Amino acid sequence: MGQITLNQVTKSFGEAQVIPPLDLEINEGEFVVFVGPSGCGKSTLLRLIAGLEDTTSGHISIDGKDATELPPAKRGLAMVFQSYALYPHMSVRKNIAFPMRMAGIDEATQKAKIEAAAKALNLTDYLDRKPGQLSGGQRQRVAIGRAIVREPAAFLFDEPLSNLDAALRVGMRLEIMELHEKLATTMIYVTHDQVEAMTMADKIVVLQAGVIEQVGSPLELYHTPRNKFVAGFIGSPK
Ligand code: ADP
Ligand code: MG
Repeated sequence: MGQITLNQVTKSFGEAQVIPPLDLEINEGEFVVFVGPSGCGKSTLLRLIAGLEDTTSGHISIDGKDATELPPAKRGLAMVFQSYALYPHMSVRKNIAFPMRMAGIDEATQKAKIEAAAKALNLTDYLDRKPGQLSGGQRQRVAIGRAIVREPAAFLFDEPLSNLDAALRVGMRLEIMELHEKLATTMIYVTHDQVEAMTMADKIVVLQAGVIEQVGSPLELYHTPRNKFVAGFIGSPK
């Protein structure tokens, strides 16, 4: 579960091609980070995988099945939005339950899954609070909880920590990595922060103007950057 293949995928907005033909292989259980400067196409690429944008050409397959034409709900992936996407008038419990209610899952299953997610995210004591009564980090954990209960083949994160202050970011980074260890589910994580990329990733995808400059482990990119852009961006001395 969670193997994603992009084959000659392109994306244009009007005349502007923001993703030239791109191939990418994401393996089951991998923690993959898309990194690159603002405007390089990270969010677009993630949204193409999620199905929130249509490809202009090319194919996306998920776990061996062609997903290119599938709507987001049929792809089995969960996009984790920034915490401000929570419903402020609903309790944490109801926020986490929301996607299951929409999917018509029975109450007993909902309850069990909410409790398991709350346990995994250290939210057990906060289930009856409203988002406004939580810290930024706790709110972000609720947003992740809402994704966990769907048991997705992969989690897609788009700069999930950019609204948090620096100290909180470090803590949340560790929590997301811990969650990846626990769930062993594929995670694709978008950031423009080199430190986040280098500390979190199994595999880093370095993007510039929609082009993959290099794919590799943090150590590979550090020791053998393919070009000056990668070296400069990753902070390698080469
Ligand atoms: P990043 O997430 O790396 O900052 P984006 O994927 O958001 O970059 O954007 C990549 C490029 O595509 C940018 O030039 C941006 O202006 C353009 N773009 C993104 N979404 C749209 C859209 N809906 N319509 C037109 N241009 C877009
Ligand atoms: Mg973006």
